[in-house]
Amino acid sequence: MTVRGAADQKEILIFERRESGVRSYCRRFDCVLDTAEGSVVRDVSGREYLDFVAGAGSLNYGHNDPDMRAALIAHLEHGGMSHSLDLSSTAKSAFLTAFESLLLLPRGFDYRVQFTGPTGANAVEAALKLARKVTGRSNVIAFTNGFHGMSQGALAATGNRHHRIGPQMPLPGVTRMPYDGYQGEGVDTADLLARMLCDPSSGLDAPAAILLETVQGEGGLNVASPGWLARIAELARSSGALLVVDDVQAGCGRTGTFFSFEPFGIVPDLVVLSKSISGYGLPMALLLIRPEHDVWLPGEHNGTFRGNVHAFVTATVALTKFWADSGFAGDVARRGELLARRLAGVANVVPGATVKGRGMMRGVDVGSGALAASITRRCFVEGLMLETSGPHGEVVKVLAPLTTPDDMLNDGLDILLDAARDVTAESGVSGASGLVNA
Ligand SMILES: *Cc1c(COP(=O)(O)O)cnc(C)c1O
Repeated sequence: MTVRGAADQKEILIFERRESGVRSYCRRFDCVLDTAEGSVVRDVSGREYLDFVAGAGSLNYGHNDPDMRAALIAHLEHGGMSHSLDLSSTAKSAFLTAFESLLLLPRGFDYRVQFTGPTGANAVEAALKLARKVTGRSNVIAFTNGFHGMSQGALAATGNRHHRIGPQMPLPGVTRMPYDGYQGEGVDTADLLARMLCDPSSGLDAPAAILLETVQGEGGLNVASPGWLARIAELARSSGALLVVDDVQAGCGRTGTFFSFEPFGIVPDLVVLSKSISGYGLPMALLLIRPEHDVWLPGEHNGTFRGNVHAFVTATVALTKFWADSGFAGDVARRGELLARRLAGVANVVPGATVKGRGMMRGVDVGSGALAASITRRCFVEGLMLETSGPHGEVVKVLAPLTTPDDMLNDGLDILLDAARDVTAESGVSGASGLVNA
């Protein structure tokens, strides 16, 4: 069991007494964290945990990367700007130069970069607002189990009922369509969208945007197939809608390439990035805009914290350190295969379980939220932090930092395997052996 020191216990009381009921992760992981390095976090009593939550995908390069930290300290000691609205700064110039030369030019992408407020949700808001301005239309097509953030426009495009709260929160302007695989194997959900878009009495208003994740991070690690993505991209083009890829969680290398859509030959009109873009867990969000759509008037989507200067500094190091050549992407792809193999082993000990996801964004659907919660609780006791996703929290999700050394990844997956086996045995679930569907 978790052994907590007296200091730990006392500190937990202040959170329970004073912090809002909205707090969530800290309910599942009741420790008081102090320091962190790479894929390991340490609590106030000195206990270490493998962190395979990684800031929900905000720490793709792990905690406290030494080169990012050194650059940040140097910036602070130099008296570098810490806040600058959207004024030009040396730090922003270095970031944009690295973004252009290391990410855009080698991929043949031509995007303008908009610095929005520092959350993924704000960048999604900017994307939807811009798509509506460009097209003069209001309807946005989003997909079942999609997750796009908590502000009103982004929430309208988010499926999860718990986050939408209820009828007292009007969330207009979005039509939900079934994501790839939603109706099971053998049904191509793009057929329904195609049919509804060309039927003038389908009741579907012409869309300003089609908004999607290529892998649904919160929605249960559902993976869109290359064929489905290509069809959706073509439907966006033929219907005059902007294709918006929300790469907040699946981007920044999580699926093996910097942008999650790179392997599929689609070029979205707008791309949303946040979470790991700073590389250091600092708040920052971007909207990438194809130049012909960059119709913003000055300040039309503004914000006090557009472009976090400290995040520019660490993001520049992240790009030059990890994305100057294809070595890191190759590492992530290889480690993603290791993860898939190990998770197939986990799925084998849970009757009916399946492996889901792509790259280093994978998990095991254990079929029940209660079982997934028991497994992740057991993992935590054994020193591994993991979260769950999916409509019922039924997917045990592994978001280890992409830089996690293989032995550490294996250590964590050993803990997960034991926990899955023990919890399944204790809960008396039995039946067919696990189906693997990576
Ligand atoms: C986390 C997330 C968001 C929202 O980002 P915030 O910074 O929490 O506002 C949007 N889209 C996806 C796919 C996400 O995973």
